Amino acid sequence: MKTVIIGGGASGLAAAVTLKRECPAMDVVVLEKLDEPGRKLLATGNGRCNLTNTDIAVGYYHGDSSLIYRVLNRFDLTDCLDFFHSLGLLTREEEGRVYPLSMNAATVRNVLLEEARRLGVVFETGFAVGDLAPGFTITEKGGGRSVTADCVLLALGGKADAAHGTDGDGYPLLKNLGIRYAPISPSLTALLTDPKVAPLKGLRFHGSASLEDARGNLVGKDDGELQFTENGLTGIPAFQLSGDAAVLAKNETPRVLLDFCPNLPDVAVLEYLRDRRSRSGPEEPVLCLFTGLLQEKLSRFLLEDAGLSPETPANRLGMQELADLAGLLKAWPLDVLGTKSFKDAQVTRGGVPAEELNEDSLESRRVPGLWFAGELLGVDGACGGYNLHFAWGSGILAAKEIAQRATHQ
Ligand SMILES: Cc1cc2nc3c(=O)[nH]c(=O)nc-3n(C[C@H](O)[C@H](O)[C@H](O)COP(=O)(O)OP(=O)(O)OC[C@H]3O[C@@H](n4cnc5c(N)ncnc54)[C@H](O)[C@@H]3O)c2cc1C
Repeated sequence: MKTVIIGGGASGLAAAVTLKRECPAMDVVVLEKLDEPGRKLLATGNGRCNLTNTDIAVGYYHGDSSLIYRVLNRFDLTDCLDFFHSLGLLTREEEGRVYPLSMNAATVRNVLLEEARRLGVVFETGFAVGDLAPGFTITEKGGGRSVTADCVLLALGGKADAAHGTDGDGYPLLKNLGIRYAPISPSLTALLTDPKVAPLKGLRFHGSASLEDARGNLVGKDDGELQFTENGLTGIPAFQLSGDAAVLAKNETPRVLLDFCPNLPDVAVLEYLRDRRSRSGPEEPVLCLFTGLLQEKLSRFLLEDAGLSPETPANRLGMQELADLAGLLKAWPLDVLGTKSFKDAQVTRGGVPAEELNEDSLESRRVPGLWFAGELLGVDGACGGYNLHFAWGSGILAAKEIAQRATHQ
């Protein structure tokens, strides 16, 4: 029996190793578009590969909940660590994020490749699949090489980060086979906002960002280090909100509210400003009220944006104006026009839903013998190791199902 895995990324490599371990007699062939497998893995976690998280839970994922449970119920943190330890990889943890002990992403890629090769997995690189005919015959783009298989695992990722091989090749294959998938959009990328932020480009601050839809409903919130860009915001909190922002911005203008003092409650900020004003000299400018809180450039910008000259004497401000200033510091609103494109995103939101799969399995309902893993499925996770965890888990789960099918035939 022969299984072809299309895509030699995170889910494809985990699947290849598992399939050969469970079913040594199976021919396992990985078709990889790039000239070597696992290229994207080298770029993950800023070159360190954040491969899972000590807090793996459904709440860190977005998408088809039945699919999320299906994978996480059978692949938790312990399963993930056991898998990597079985490959000889030692790990370390930093604030819940799990990395290889070497803090080098190549180590993760290499232990997977070494084990796959040792077990006899065959890799065909530079093979960009362009057609998948039921049955299965798999043909290279442009009609070059062809390969046949008894089972196929589609592990060719989503559309994010085309530079690492993933430019959405999987979706035309799905369409040709009549498999439906939820609309896709970029996630884990920078927010594009009102371009008025351009003068703040490069300025970093520790704050919190809340995403609101056009009706003012809170959609998501995250805090950490944020940075203004020439046309928006980047940093982990911006990334975490980007999946929802991209979807909302297709039909409306959501807003992000920035809290520049996330550790101080609203009343404490107002109290702080009142205290500063009461101690300010007669001609001291309002800018001085912010001195102990924000960088001067940001203070000037916020005041001018609110229509107040930074040089206005502070003691001219009444209680309402002070309350307005406190409001600026706690919830400065910025229109969100969208997000960066797939090219600059880390993951794809949307994809194959549970209703396209057999119950409790990752096998296609419409095309028996066809399995799915990784980002092509309709699940995406937060920053912090959640996407790789899902990729390993779904690849391993699909491989176990294929092996079980083979042993019962
Ligand atoms: C810069 C960056 C950093 C990231 N860092 C992290 C992190 O630290 N932690 C985390 O959890 N997640 C991270 N992610 C997300 C994570 O890498 C992906 O979610 C995960 O790799 C998806 O696994 P996959 O197997 O579905 O697809 P991929 O790993 O993307 O692999 C798909 C493979 O299929 C190949 N392929 C595509 N089309 C074809 C075709 N037509 N024929 C043959 N082969 C094809 C591609 O070349 C690729 O090798 C990061 C993503 C990026 C872009």
